[in-house]
Amino acid sequence: MIFNEVKNFINGEFKSGSSSKTHTVISPLDGGELTTFKESTIDDLNEIVNFAQKAQKAWQKVTIKERAQVFYKYKQLLEKNSAELTEIIYLENGKIHGEAKAEIDKAIELTEFACSLPQFVNGENMEVSKGVYCSSTKHPLGVVASIVPFNFPSMVPHWTVVNAIALGNAMILKPSESVPISSQYIAKLLKEAGLPDGLFNIINGTQSTVENLCDHPDIKAITFVGSTKVAKIVYQRASQNLKQVLALGGAKNHIILLPDAHPDMASSNIVASMSGCAGQRCMAAATLIAVGNCDAILDKLIGDALKIKCGTTLGAVISKAAKERIETYITEAEQQGAKIILDGRNTTVPGKENGFYVGPTIIDYATADMRVAKEEIFGPVLAIVRVKTIDEALAIENANPYGNACSVFTQSGGLANYVSENASAGMCGVNIGVPVPREPFGFGGWNESRFGSGDITGKSSIVFFTKEKKTTTKWNPEAGTNWMS
Ligand code: NAD
Repeated sequence: MIFNEVKNFINGEFKSGSSSKTHTVISPLDGGELTTFKESTIDDLNEIVNFAQKAQKAWQKVTIKERAQVFYKYKQLLEKNSAELTEIIYLENGKIHGEAKAEIDKAIELTEFACSLPQFVNGENMEVSKGVYCSSTKHPLGVVASIVPFNFPSMVPHWTVVNAIALGNAMILKPSESVPISSQYIAKLLKEAGLPDGLFNIINGTQSTVENLCDHPDIKAITFVGSTKVAKIVYQRASQNLKQVLALGGAKNHIILLPDAHPDMASSNIVASMSGCAGQRCMAAATLIAVGNCDAILDKLIGDALKIKCGTTLGAVISKAAKERIETYITEAEQQGAKIILDGRNTTVPGKENGFYVGPTIIDYATADMRVAKEEIFGPVLAIVRVKTIDEALAIENANPYGNACSVFTQSGGLANYVSENASAGMCGVNIGVPVPREPFGFGGWNESRFGSGDITGKSSIVFFTKEKKTTTKWNPEAGTNWMS
């Protein structure tokens, strides 16, 4: 084991879960054991919630400007520890160092937004009729929870943790059981930054832990990020228990390629999008819809994809099961008559023969009804569907149940606008492969990629993690002068 046992974080202390079930964390790089953790029980959760409630009651009385000071220190600690945090992500998730470092950079950027919250969290005040004033103020919810997936062990927890706490809440994080190590360092650094005990907590576990979070009466709000199947379960169960819920699900993102696209720009962006993080991004390019004759650009794209080297410029996928699932999709497409231009099956990396690698895969002449073109694969696989018109391309995009991202590559502003306006996706890109909105814009898809309203980051997170109070005030204009005379 490379790392010490992963523990829950309760009231500022690391403590093992009480369940007799132990979970082993495997490194995708070589299949080796990294660490273990004990699963958590309902008693563990009750203990966390009790401490969190007490801590939150005191924290909500601290001004937001003072709360933000903790995050200025935390940001410095992220910067100082960036190399170590990058290495942990590399080991537990299997992505390459550059991608792991990019996660820490993004965590820093998200923390900067939390530092700026005092500038955004202002209420409103207005004289609504003579002598009558209405004002609105924002208040924390209490104890909230965040359930996160494996693909961004540090960035996705930062989507919610820093804003929720800066806004006056206490947070319970449920890391992915596949990558629980990065979260241990979030706890360590938040404590070092001076965050009072009980405001940031970790509960480790799997399905039963998530169910306990959804059912706990003293948790006021839950955010979830993960697959659509589980997003639906969490959204329904936590809503049933009258919690505020935002559940982000899976994706199948479409790139609409027009023949007038800039060849270098289109090729490099699309290849980076389909292969980055080994295709395990909810914003990854998955289905490329080529409109008309795009052969010159597609040839360039294949050439760029050929330059990718597994283990160097392309990381591992999360598990043996994921590798097998991805390879099954490729085989099925081949059997259905699609053309495998670049085949990532049976890839091994010298020295890491037991690692879970899938090479970059490009499948041409897929049809919209093939599973490879319409289901989330979550691997470095690009399916190319060829159509004659933009409206045919949009019809395929619109028919897909997901709605996270859609990008168009063209040099025509009018056509770019037409696609962006008509795509059924929450995040659209023009000549960009991974159209992630940056703060203060919020991250969130449409359709089966999101359940609940609003986005998870940016200004939307202020709405999600606070409740608003409206106060109406009326004064007798004569009272003051009568008293004086
Ligand atoms: P997952 O749904 O398997 O797991 C997510 C979380 O849910 C984990 O913490 C896990 O422990 C828990 N969980 C798993 N099964 C459960 C069950 N039956 N009941 C209750 N809880 C359960 O997702 P994953 O494999 O970790 O992550 C990959 C998925 O996440 C992909 O579908 C990807 O598109 C999606 N994702 C979406 C976004 C977004 O913003 N929309 C961002 C990142 C990842």
